[in-house]
Amino acid sequence: MANITLNNVKLQVADGITVLEAARANGVNIPTLCHMDMADIKMINKVGTCRVCMVEVVNPNGSSWLAPACATDIWDGMVINTNTPRAIKARRTMVELFISNHPKDCLACERNRNCELQDLAADLNIRDDRYAGKMSKHTKDTSSRSLIRDPEKCVLCRRCETMCNEVQTVGVYSAVNRGLETTIGTAFDFPMLDTACTFCGQCISVCPTGALTQISNIGEVWSEINNPDKVVIVQTAPAVRVALGEEFNMPVGTRVTGKMVAALRRLGFDHVYDTDFAADLTIMEEAHELIDRVKNGGTLPMLTSCCPAWVKFIEHQFPTLLDIPSSCKSPHEMFGAIAKTYLAEKLGVDPGKMVVVSIMPCVAKKYEAAREELANDGNANVDYVLTTREMASMLREAGINFNSLPDEDFDKVMGESSGASVIFGTTGGVIEAAVRTAASWLGGETIKNVDFKELRGMEGIREATVKAGEVELKIGIAHGLGNARTLLENIRDGKCQYHAIEIMACPGGCVGGGGQPFYGNDRTIIAARAKSLYAEDEAKQVRCSHENAEIKALYAEFLEKPGSHKAHELLHTQYVKRDKL
Ligand code: SF4
Repeated sequence: MANITLNNVKLQVADGITVLEAARANGVNIPTLCHMDMADIKMINKVGTCRVCMVEVVNPNGSSWLAPACATDIWDGMVINTNTPRAIKARRTMVELFISNHPKDCLACERNRNCELQDLAADLNIRDDRYAGKMSKHTKDTSSRSLIRDPEKCVLCRRCETMCNEVQTVGVYSAVNRGLETTIGTAFDFPMLDTACTFCGQCISVCPTGALTQISNIGEVWSEINNPDKVVIVQTAPAVRVALGEEFNMPVGTRVTGKMVAALRRLGFDHVYDTDFAADLTIMEEAHELIDRVKNGGTLPMLTSCCPAWVKFIEHQFPTLLDIPSSCKSPHEMFGAIAKTYLAEKLGVDPGKMVVVSIMPCVAKKYEAAREELANDGNANVDYVLTTREMASMLREAGINFNSLPDEDFDKVMGESSGASVIFGTTGGVIEAAVRTAASWLGGETIKNVDFKELRGMEGIREATVKAGEVELKIGIAHGLGNARTLLENIRDGKCQYHAIEIMACPGGCVGGGGQPFYGNDRTIIAARAKSLYAEDEAKQVRCSHENAEIKALYAEFLEKPGSHKAHELLHTQYVKRDKL
């Protein structure tokens, strides 16, 4: 322990921590901008570039100096003042300098009212633009389907760089040039579309300003809704229902399924369905594929393929392993394929006039929807993807009072789901759902205990062995692409053997997706969303995908059986070897 004096209060704090950590542990707030703490994965952006956390450290002779709290370790006998005029002036000056080189188009910025630079300026009572002068000039990158890079709004905090390089190990961003020319850019200034970016959107999640934002498809969706010639179908992913409420000041983890359905009807969508239905469908195909590979000497392990960012990651980084992911499309793509065939016939709608919109926690799904390999007869399965944040934005635009909406049910035919499908939204959920069905099929009857708790949790890499009939299935799970890389390297080098592996690109799985309400990197929020999904699973009567009555009807009336020719045509895909750059 070390004895320190913090704002005239004598304290004992743990040795070896920073001034920032000591202050926060004792309820003293010091503002930060570049600092990003991910204690659970032992990762920290401790670059000290922004100097917004300056504090005054007093020497024994009474003189003092300014130190960045995030990058200064405490020592025994240290005297620190966080709120002296000198410290506050230093912070204010830094923020004023950031503002002097900022476009200040807040009213039209995606991060308006949700921007850390705005908050700092407000907290520090900045009322003037004191340092007018030369500003950086950079070009916006709008090349991708998923995200926009606007380097003029970048404050060079380098959080995106840490997230992309250290956590996700994708390595797309790095700081280039000097002085006013400095920017966080791609290698050779390639457009994002031509890089190895997976579009997981985690850089957006940690960006404090509007320098990294999602591509918005709100305008196109409004046009389709208001086009009388179109029938607009909407589907919602499981992770959306446990995060959307946060946008309307509800407690973290509040499940708003019924209100979400009601809201989508009031926005003007013609039919409101559940991606969970298609998650059950995914399990039918995936469990069938797993059993086939296990019994008939197929390639093992089988990797789940629900996450498009993870799929793009393996295509760029491990092109020699492209025979191990399951050939199943992701649930929302399966939904689109079935909607434009089976459902179109049931509704008596010309598939050419049907528009499928997905509400997703994910910005990578925007990229995925445009992948040519996923189309059928040249037509995309999904036409537009909106994130959870975009849906909230549409509701505010339309003046819908979300909190007072009644609870409504999804439409029938593709609206019923099992508990297994609900947990797709959290790490470990997809593989638990697959194991429930695989174990039932291998054992000849639906298993009684469907809770495979050994597959749950928030550790980055987990493994468990579960009994499925006579077979012992060895399962691996990773969330976050850095963890995925570790697992894949072990597989490539023959260091570990699994039957099946689930990988999700985002921390915690889709509940922590790049399109979810901003959560300030607080992992307890991700855990609360996940807990809410498990509670919904537990409350469901039907908890295995193969017991979903609408899924049974789909196979009886249309697909025949899992793995059939028709199922392969509509629900499966292949992968593409891609360069590292
Ligand atoms: Fe999208 Fe989920 Fe993958 Fe994140 S984990 S990229 S939200 S599918």
